[in-house]
Order: sequence, then C-alpha cells, then structure tokens
Amino acid sequence: MPPNSSQPNPNNKPIAGSLGTLKIFGVPVRFHFTFILLLVFLLFIGVGEKQSGAFTALYVVALFASVLLHEVGHTLVARHYGIRTIEIVMFPIGGVSRPEREPKPREELWIALAGPMVNFLIAAVLIGWLSTRQGFVNVMDLRNPTDANLLQRIAFGNLLLWLFNLLPAYPMDGGRILRSLLALKRPIDDATRIAAGAGQMFAILMGLAGLLWGNFMLMFVALFVYLGALQEGATAKGRLFTSGFPVSAAAITDFRSLHHGDSLRDAGQLLLTTTQHDFPVMLGDSVIGLLTRSGLVRALMTHGADSYVAGAMDREFLRLTPETPLSDALPKLAAAGAVALVIDKDDRLVGILTAEHVSEFILLRQAGLAQPTLHAA
Ligand code: ZN
Repeated sequence: MPPNSSQPNPNNKPIAGSLGTLKIFGVPVRFHFTFILLLVFLLFIGVGEKQSGAFTALYVVALFASVLLHEVGHTLVARHYGIRTIEIVMFPIGGVSRPEREPKPREELWIALAGPMVNFLIAAVLIGWLSTRQGFVNVMDLRNPTDANLLQRIAFGNLLLWLFNLLPAYPMDGGRILRSLLALKRPIDDATRIAAGAGQMFAILMGLAGLLWGNFMLMFVALFVYLGALQEGATAKGRLFTSGFPVSAAAITDFRSLHHGDSLRDAGQLLLTTTQHDFPVMLGDSVIGLLTRSGLVRALMTHGADSYVAGAMDREFLRLTPETPLSDALPKLAAAGAVALVIDKDDRLVGILTAEHVSEFILLRQAGLAQPTLHAA
C-alpha cells in the first residue's frame, strides 16, 4: 500500500520491531508487530452474524496478500533495473519495500506504477470472472459482509488500493509518479520538494475526510503520509538550497570558546550571557573538545560547579573542513546531534556549524539572498 521508503539504508539493518521471515522472490518479508495486533483485532471484531469466522479470516488474508503482491510488483520492476530490495515490511496501514538505492526518475516512474497495477489486475481478473459467473452486485451491498459476496469485496478492496495509492501524495506511489515526471524537467530535489508539498496537502485532506467519516485508519494513513512528506520535503529543500556552498558559508564565525582549565561555573556563565549552546574547549591554540548544553547540565548535576570543563566535554565530536560541501555535511550534522566544529587544514578552529544556523542559511537563500555571506572571512 502506501510509501516505499525512498531512503536507501546503507546499514541494511531491518526495521526495528519487525518479526517473522518469509521470503518472496528472495526478498525477506517481515511483519511489524503492530500488524499482528491488527490481524488479531480484525479477526476478533470481524465475525459478524452474516459472515463466518473462516470467511472473515479468508477476507483478511486475501487483502493482506493483495498488499503483499502490490509490494512484490514494486520489487520485481526494481529488480528489472538492477535495484535490489532489502526487505518488505508489512505495517497495519500497508507494506513498505525498501530499495537498496534510490531509483533514477525514469526507473521510479515504472517502479511506482507497478504496485497499483498489481491491484488493478487482481480486481480486473476477479471482476471478469465474477461477471461470467454471477454478475457483479451493487457496491452498496458490499457494506454488509456475507460469505456470498467475499470475492466481490476482495475485488472492491483491490480497486480501492489501486485508486488510493495513485493519489499524488508523496511519498505514496502516486506522489512518486508525480515526482518522477517533474524530475524529467527540473532538478530532483526541486521535484521532491513540490511532490512533498502536494503530499502534505493531500494528507491534510485525507485526515479531514477520515475525521468526517470517523475512519481512524484513514486518519492514521494521513498522519503517516504527512510526516513522510514533511521529512522528505525538508531534506530535499536542505539539499536544494545548500548545494554549491561550502560549510564555511553557513558556519558561525563569531563565537566564544572555553579553556581546558575553566570550571563548569564559567561554562554556565557563558551559556547565560551568550546565545550560544555549544562551546569548543581549547588547549592553547588547538581544540580538544566540545561542551554541549546537555553535557554541561549533566556534568553540573553529577560533578558540581567547581569541576573542570575538560571532564565534561565531548572528545568525539564532528569535525568539518571549511571546504566541505554544505549539502554533504547536512546528514553528518543530523547524525552528530546538530553541532559540528569547523577546523581548517592548519588545525585551527574557524567556526561552528549548527543545524539551527543552517536552517537560517536556508531561509535566507529561500528569501532570495543568492550569496548569503554571513561572515567576511
Ligand atoms: Zn506502492
């Protein structure tokens, strides 16, 4: 069903909280534990007056298989382009297949189309077969599940899966199709940004519809799509507006440092009297550590105000050179807790790079400042 995470996973680690190992076409299929809970829940409430327990189970299994086949559709077309799928994870609101690398726009178009097409084919085959046998019943009658209309309901479920996934709400399949088409004419990060914007808009509409109809599943999917679009949009925007700039263009160059022999009291004073949160710790001319605000607070509570900053600082901090491309530094910055020290080739500390400051840089670029020279070094 919805998103196939576009984030290639370099560690090939499975998604946490998943269990089970089924393999389809060599791809491990895992079941997130919340999915198992949903199955139990559906079986529990699904046994109605007109529907037997066995047919309820059949219906649930058939829909689950439809979602799984949808993911297999993505997987097989991705394989055609030489992209291995690390795993398929089944969540209550759908499947997610994780490709080992991000596909090129033309590849993504066909990979994204393949999933919904599988659901369309399942529906078409079922409807074709039913029309020769007993005819297709009124769609409204399907709201009363009976053993007799099981196949009709499976066909209808697949039609819904087909249409729903084609909504142009990135990161759902339709949004990926939109992005790949946009990317034929413009940079991929720009295409992602636009598709993610559409994704957020559709997610809000979906959420409202879910609220109006009292459909908690739809609200849940809307939230999932919204957060996915928000994150991917922000990442793409970050890359788009920082590309071509070095780290030095966005680094803070007017900052205060601590000295190796300073006390935590001195550090606390500096935290209060400046707007800085993180302080480089110097020994002579070279930087030997980084004292973050949380590190300072932790050390104050355990060691007291008279202990030295050298005992509280981080010795393993992220070092960046002024020439490093800013767009390459962003993921490292995020992984390092949003702060890095900028150190030149002569081992001199020349700046601090924080996530907060990079967002200001991006804001300035967005506001039309082509060359935001935030320092005159
Ligand atoms: Zn899909």
